[in-house]
Amino acid sequence: MATDTTTAKPVLGVYQHGSAYMVGDGFPVRNLFPSNDLDRAVDPFLMLDYAGPQYFPPTDHPRGVGEHPHRGFETVTIVYEGAVAHRDSAGNAGVIGPGDVQWMTAASGIVHEEFHEAEFAKKGGTFHAIQLWVNLPRSSKMSAPGYQTILNADIPAVDLDGRGTLRVIAGSFLGRKGPARTFTTVQLYDLQLNAGGRAVLTVPEGDNSSVFVLQGRASVNGSREAGEAELIVCERTGSQIVIEAKADSRMLVMSGKPIDEPIARYGPFVMNTKAELMQAVQDYQAGKMGHLS
Ligand code: MN
Repeated sequence: MATDTTTAKPVLGVYQHGSAYMVGDGFPVRNLFPSNDLDRAVDPFLMLDYAGPQYFPPTDHPRGVGEHPHRGFETVTIVYEGAVAHRDSAGNAGVIGPGDVQWMTAASGIVHEEFHEAEFAKKGGTFHAIQLWVNLPRSSKMSAPGYQTILNADIPAVDLDGRGTLRVIAGSFLGRKGPARTFTTVQLYDLQLNAGGRAVLTVPEGDNSSVFVLQGRASVNGSREAGEAELIVCERTGSQIVIEAKADSRMLVMSGKPIDEPIARYGPFVMNTKAELMQAVQDYQAGKMGHLS
């Protein structure tokens, strides 16, 4: 079938990671955004940290990041290798491993910790994950916190003509619905394509859409090829995204309706105004976001 080029989304650019740093002592990340000043182009997504892949030797003291707060958005953790254990002040706790996703709604505020899971730490091994932050509209920033553990088995996997697999984490693809509950319209796909494979996606007109290549090489709508840890960002116009893999590739496809509200950031808080950020700091310091028991 011919590609309808009239609705293909133009590609804004291909981006490499900006800053690279260790989150706590367990998550060696390369940051794709906000590093590349893409706020408007990736809205409603706020941050993409690509962790590993990196080998960690066995230890009895799991690495990770201790108690810290969040307010105003959601943190989505996708594990490819290794395992993450999480605990928060809303009383939620869980472990996610390869293929699993944790969708945590910080909203009005939580305090949590994120560590390598104890058994994984004890054995040692390769850790490989993504943490994506999804913004909340002003009207939901002070909603109650939430927590969704989305297991591998709950994520529909759609076969792409035997040349790849698309797993629907959020949104839908060819009538298959992803399990994640979201506040705004978001499509989030874990995509694997063999060399020569291609995926044809249709996203809502006006979405901000981007494709992060974890491993392999791929292009979007005829763009230049992106390699390992590179991000292809589309413009808002159009609705079709054709992804072509030039090598066996693993990608994260992110598409969402822009929230188009002011973004004010301060570390783990993302609000609309400076005053709201100051309030967040005060509320955290006053213990209003709770503590880990
Ligand atoms: Mn966190």
